[in-house]
Amino acid sequence: MRFEEQRELMVQEQIISRGITDEKVLDAMRKVERHLFVPEHSRYNAYQDFPIPIGEGQTISQPYIIALMIELLELKSSDKVLEIGTGSGYQTALLAEMADTVCSIERIASLARKARDLLNKLNYENIYIKVSDGTKGWGNTYPSIKEFDAIIISAGAPKIPEKLVEQLANNGRMILPYGNRFSQILTRLTKRGNDIDREEFGGCIFVPLIGKYGWTY
Ligand code: SAM
Repeated sequence: MRFEEQRELMVQEQIISRGITDEKVLDAMRKVERHLFVPEHSRYNAYQDFPIPIGEGQTISQPYIIALMIELLELKSSDKVLEIGTGSGYQTALLAEMADTVCSIERIASLARKARDLLNKLNYENIYIKVSDGTKGWGNTYPSIKEFDAIIISAGAPKIPEKLVEQLANNGRMILPYGNRFSQILTRLTKRGNDIDREEFGGCIFVPLIGKYGWTY
């Protein structure tokens, strides 16, 4: 079966069937060629219902969990998004299809380099990737954005990274897997003035968020 057909099957059988309805998310998943973001020897599995190793002990997440997290961000086309954990760059591309600007931080330089090269080749002009500890936030790097409309953390956090909450705009949404090393709860925080609303969306399992405001190893 051609990759395009596999992509449509993925959207129908894994994403829509589990209740994702945001057309912008579905369109982005129909468009972005997930098989380009996995190692060549795993391409035949790129559209299957599971995460896939991408090297350095990291994974590209299962398509459904990515779709759910992005839907929960409730993105508008004018939004500035911060992503922690670029990984393969697949989710970064989906976000870039839906938002104005995507700033993405990856702590492993080789993954960041690969993702940047591929996303450049695919002509994305609204993505900025830096190698750093994402738990500390975007900092003074170009483009100079002090507050993000949406923040997505793609690795399991043992605590809420306060630095990232500080960089969330008013009415901004942050989605993160929050919990222990082996299982987490998908959690959405919404900033409302000085208050933070907190909602939970079920269990998930992610690789650890390693950094100053994450796990120490
Ligand atoms: N969504 C990604 C994709 O589409 O390929 C997969 C992300 S993978 C599950 C999690 C990534 O978070 C890994 O690449 C890991 O190196 C990165 N990571 C973990 N802790 C980090 C931190 N403090 N700052 C930046 N990246 C981090």
